[in-house]
Amino acid sequence: MYRGGIILKTPEQIELMAAAGRIQARCLQMLRSKCRPGVTTEDLDRAAERFIASQGAEPSFLGYRGFPGSICASPNSMVVHGIPGPSELRRGDLISIDVGVTKDGWVADAALTVPIGEVSPVARQLLATTEAALHAGAAQVRPGNHLGDVSHAIQRRVEGDGLSIIRSLVGHGVGRDMHEDPQVPNYGEPGRGPELEAGMVLAIEPMVNAGGPDVRVGEDQWAVYSADGSLTAHFEFTVAVTEEGPRILTPWHES
Ligand code: MG
Repeated sequence: MYRGGIILKTPEQIELMAAAGRIQARCLQMLRSKCRPGVTTEDLDRAAERFIASQGAEPSFLGYRGFPGSICASPNSMVVHGIPGPSELRRGDLISIDVGVTKDGWVADAALTVPIGEVSPVARQLLATTEAALHAGAAQVRPGNHLGDVSHAIQRRVEGDGLSIIRSLVGHGVGRDMHEDPQVPNYGEPGRGPELEAGMVLAIEPMVNAGGPDVRVGEDQWAVYSADGSLTAHFEFTVAVTEEGPRILTPWHES
């Protein structure tokens, strides 16, 4: 069933998405635990591929529009869509890891940014604010709220801390397809946009720069960087709208 172009999922379908989401969350937790100096993003990609296969699931990103990895691994000033490769993580780096898992035809999409050892105060603030903004947005995912309430909660938290929302990259609906309607901007007006209803599932993903809000695409036509070279962070959950309120289907934040 659709509501204003947004596909509504049945409770049974949301359980299937939650099953994909549990695998996704365990995959992210496993990857986070492997992040240390000397590990390459290719190492992380292979570990994700093995784990996802061991769970009877598939990596949603692999082959998506020709993407060559099972994860996106984006260090420092790279926001998203980093192709895994031979470069090693170094102490003081930030590494953003984004993973999609497809299980029984249903997609779960989530991401986090991991500090490698001790990082700068600017980096610590960036991580704390972006993760808090994700939780602030997710808390608005309830029936009767509007999409703009989610967007505004994220924007308020990020800009309140003096950091920049990237406006050209947005969250999205998710279900059988990784990218469904609606787009979920990380800025907006309260009370505006589509009204949320039980059965909608959204990938909420604040992407935040420590410097200005602009981004540029790299030479490989995949990687997106902050235009000014500043540090950047990305945290994401797949969240279902339920009668009881938000249900985080990818609970990587729970240990
Ligand atoms: Mg996403």
